[in-house]
Amino acid sequence: MSEKLRITIDPGHGERDNPYPAAKGFFEGTQMWRLAGFLKAELEKRGFDVATTRPKITDNPSVDSRGKSAADNGSVFMLSLHSNATADTTQTSVTGSEVFLSVKGREHKPLAEKLLTAVCRVMTHQTRGVKERTLENSPNNDWFGVIRSAANNGCTCAMLMEHGFHTNPKDAQFLTVDSNLRRLAEAEAEVIAEHFGISAEEPLTAADAVTALRAAAGLEVLSPKELKRLDLNKDGVITSADALMILRVVAGLNPEG
Ligand SMILES: [Zn+2]
Repeated sequence: MSEKLRITIDPGHGERDNPYPAAKGFFEGTQMWRLAGFLKAELEKRGFDVATTRPKITDNPSVDSRGKSAADNGSVFMLSLHSNATADTTQTSVTGSEVFLSVKGREHKPLAEKLLTAVCRVMTHQTRGVKERTLENSPNNDWFGVIRSAANNGCTCAMLMEHGFHTNPKDAQFLTVDSNLRRLAEAEAEVIAEHFGISAEEPLTAADAVTALRAAAGLEVLSPKELKRLDLNKDGVITSADALMILRVVAGLNPEG
């Protein structure tokens, strides 16, 4: 197991998909690919290992293979990046961001809420809420192929973010500017890092050694954040060796002994 937590970023669609004439040169598939590049860099700065489903802008894998790749590469989180569109494109006043959360990963709703709040703050528009959408007659399967495939293959912390509406001129214009995409990437990376405990590390205490021993004995299941924090020898599992190292840190000794 890698020392770093892995995240998969999925820039939606292909390069020339979903153009919007009101913002010259806008293609959802291009702008989300650019956003993904900034987000990957911001997450790597914060210590994550980041995979993307479209390393090249011309890549356009199936939604199933995108989602499955996140599960296969051991990602703790998969985020698919999109901008929304109204069915009737003359409805240009519709705005706001929304995020779809896998029905198999409802426990991750706090992360979805925090991400959505951050996106709406940067884009200065309203939140449309954290949503779920399932296949008709199949309430345990997500409607969006990419999060369905991620979750059904084992990456249940799977979300799809709609960054405003590219049918809205203000939103589309916003998304064509690199400095705006960078601000979105920073805001999203900060939320993700805080959630997974990468940026703000709390000092270790003797109580953490007890928690580690309980986790080692299978009496406690740790969040990814706690696991990362207490896995001092970075072997991907919590054992009594970690508990001993924590106690040495608390005592002001070299953890390696
Ligand atoms: Zn889309």
